[in-house]
Amino acid sequence: MIRILIAEDEERISRFIEKGLRAAGFAPTVVTDGVTAVDYASSGQFDLLLLDVGLPRLDGFTVLTALRKNGVDLPVIILTARSSAADTVAGLDGGADDYMTKPFRFEELVARIRRRVRPGENNDPPADHIIRYGILELNLHTRTVSVGDRTVELSAREFALVEMFLLHPGQVLSRQQLLSHVWGYDFDGTSNVVDVYVRQLRQKIGADHIVTTRGAGYRLAREGES
Ligand code: CA
Repeated sequence: MIRILIAEDEERISRFIEKGLRAAGFAPTVVTDGVTAVDYASSGQFDLLLLDVGLPRLDGFTVLTALRKNGVDLPVIILTARSSAADTVAGLDGGADDYMTKPFRFEELVARIRRRVRPGENNDPPADHIIRYGILELNLHTRTVSVGDRTVELSAREFALVEMFLLHPGQVLSRQQLLSHVWGYDFDGTSNVVDVYVRQLRQKIGADHIVTTRGAGYRLAREGES
């Protein structure tokens, strides 16, 4: 299990990230200030740090500098407001591996985490980038989906949608859950967009793979059901 340390003082954001990462199969831990972030990140217990810039007690850049000075080489992804992206470039010079401007799409964050985490003995075996369910097979590296022996071309959003279904087989996913995973927590459109994308996805992978649960949302069809 890949362990992610989230240093973020805004509860709405940290909760969103924590829930999403857990659903995506990571083991997240949240800390809410810079001093605790340095302590935890130095413990050797984590595989990656998501680091907010505006943190109480020590800001994100100071945290990063302290970690690198102490020889902690944990991959770090900085989370920053779009308005201060210029500062963030300085953060990259200070030893960050990547940065994301808030607000961001969750799917994008997961892709960047996967790119940064080095496969090691403590992590899942390399084959974990393949998710299979019935005749559906998802390759997280090549971002392709196959249905039986047919490879299907999907857009990034369609891919994120089908990924969400395959990570939660059998579970009914509400439009709101799908929205926040695929479009991000601050998406201000209506949940109608989910229906539109599910329809597109059904056209591509076969309508019977996704079951509508009236009033609740959608779920992946069980094996034998489709
Ligand atoms: Ca903050």
